[in-house]
Amino acid sequence: MQLSKKITQALPANDGFEFVGACQLPTKWATFELHAFIEPATGKEHLALTLGDAAASEPVLARVHSECLTGDALFSQRCDCGAQLELSMQAIAAEGRGIILYLRQEGRGIGLLNKINAYKLQDEGADTVEANQKLGFAADLRDYRLCKPMLAHFAISRLRLMTNNPRKVIALKALCIDVVERIPLIADTTPHNSYYLETKATKLGHIFPSNVSLLASPL
Ligand SMILES: [Zn+2]
Repeated sequence: MQLSKKITQALPANDGFEFVGACQLPTKWATFELHAFIEPATGKEHLALTLGDAAASEPVLARVHSECLTGDALFSQRCDCGAQLELSMQAIAAEGRGIILYLRQEGRGIGLLNKINAYKLQDEGADTVEANQKLGFAADLRDYRLCKPMLAHFAISRLRLMTNNPRKVIALKALCIDVVERIPLIADTTPHNSYYLETKATKLGHIFPSNVSLLASPL
């Protein structure tokens, strides 16, 4: 309990959220612009990737992506984060316009080292929610308030949001960010992530199409 209280107290405030600079980021799908921000309250560095005129009046194709080092950079198939990031970059490249907010809240907010401990508990049979709870954390500690100053920097107010997570839509709407459409991001299931995806569907309210088969046993 004490641990989760500590984390709650460490949740970021947006006071003084600062834009630092931007550069080109060539990728295999498009050359994005990479924007860096710093959150002085925590010292965390956050990123935004934009393509085209993100600030135009039409709602912008968007992804709000929380950092997952193992999935995004190490090709982990324990989760679908890397695949969702890749799919959203591809979708934005295909459309020629969009934004990805890359938020440094690793492991649904519990941090990298705690996530690795949670993975160990999952190796021993817990699901992703139970593992977080055994470590004293809520199932999801992500805080989307960061999105507000980042989107304001780009003068963006209306999103077509790529997500399977209706709670993310509700959280953004609560910040008065207008999500005009939710676009599912369906990554392939693998033997390694099927139990994780099922837990996200049954315990965290994520929506997956009924034709995606999710196995019920952990590996
Ligand atoms: Zn992940």
